[in-house]
Amino acid sequence: MSGGTHTAEQITLARLPSGVELTTTVHTYRGDEPGPTLYVQAAQHGREINGTEVLRRFHDRLPLESLSGTVVAVPVANPLTFDHVSYTTPEQLDSVNQNMNRVWPGDENGSLHQRMAARLWEYVTAADALVDLHTGSPDMLPHVVYREGDDRSRRLGEAFGTDLLLSEQADDDAPDEWHRRGFASKLRVVAADEGIPSITPELAYNKQILEEVVEAGVEGLLDVCRYLDLLPGDVPERDQPLARNHLGQVTADDSGLFRPNPSLEVGESIEEGTSIGTIYHPTTYEPLHEASADRSGILYALTQEATVTAGDQLASVALIREA
Ligand SMILES: [Zn+2]
Repeated sequence: MSGGTHTAEQITLARLPSGVELTTTVHTYRGDEPGPTLYVQAAQHGREINGTEVLRRFHDRLPLESLSGTVVAVPVANPLTFDHVSYTTPEQLDSVNQNMNRVWPGDENGSLHQRMAARLWEYVTAADALVDLHTGSPDMLPHVVYREGDDRSRRLGEAFGTDLLLSEQADDDAPDEWHRRGFASKLRVVAADEGIPSITPELAYNKQILEEVVEAGVEGLLDVCRYLDLLPGDVPERDQPLARNHLGQVTADDSGLFRPNPSLEVGESIEEGTSIGTIYHPTTYEPLHEASADRSGILYALTQEATVTAGDQLASVALIREA
C-alpha cells in the first residue's frame, strides 16, 4: 500500500476580456481503498477567506494513509472576488449575475460566472456529497444551512457541527423572497436537487482569519469525512439546536446610526418584540426606528456596523424547530 495520493491540478475557469486566463487549483486526495467522493470548495465569495484557510489546514491534517475514497478540494472557487476582497464581481465582468452563488449549475457558453460555475460543476456532479464553505460577518453565529426535508443533507450538516443547524425551505415550500433573491441557483440548492447531499457552513467573519472558526471548520470537515466513511472513526454526538432560516430579517426602517441593544448576544433565544436596537439621527439625535424582533427564535446575526441605510439588515432570527 502506498498510502494514498495527492495531486494539485491547475484548471482554467474562464478567460477575461484581456485574454488572461482565470485559473484556480483543484486538490484531489485519493485513498488506496475505494469509497465515496466528497467535493468541498471555498471562497466563491472571495472575501470569505476563512474557508480557504480551513482547506489549507485540512490539507495538512487529512491522514491520506487512512482515506477510503476521494476528496476534491477547491480553496479559491472565485479568484475574481478573491482578488477584489469582495462578495460579488463588478458588473463589467459579469452583467448577468455579479453573485457567483446565483448561477449554478452554470453554463459553459454563458457569462463569466456561469462559465466558472460550469467548469467546477464537472467536479460537483462526480461527487457523493458537497460542502460549500462560506463565512458571514463578525456578528454572526457560525451555522450550517441545509435544505429542509432533505435528511441526507441534514445528517451531513449534523456531522459538520457548529453552533446551529439551519434548515432552509426550497422550491414550492419557499417564500417568494427566496425565489426573488435567486436562491434556487445556489450551489447547495442545485447540487441537492441533483441528489447530492449538500451543506453550506457559514463560519463567522470575513476578510480576517479567525482561529476559532477555522479550527471548527477543519474539525467539521474531518467529521464529515468520518461520517461518509472516508475516514475511520465516529462523529461525536452533538447537541445542536435546529432552526429554520425564514429570510425575513429585521431591517432598518430608516437611515442613520444603529446602536444595537448592548444586552443582546448572538446565539441567544429571544422573544417576539425584544428590542434589537435603535436607529437615530446622527446630527439631531432624534430616534428614528426602535427595532424589535418580529418573531421569537434564535438571534443568529446582529449587525455591529453602525452606519445603516433604510432597508439594511439589522438582525436575523431563526425559528426554533423541534425535529
Ligand atoms: Zn458566501
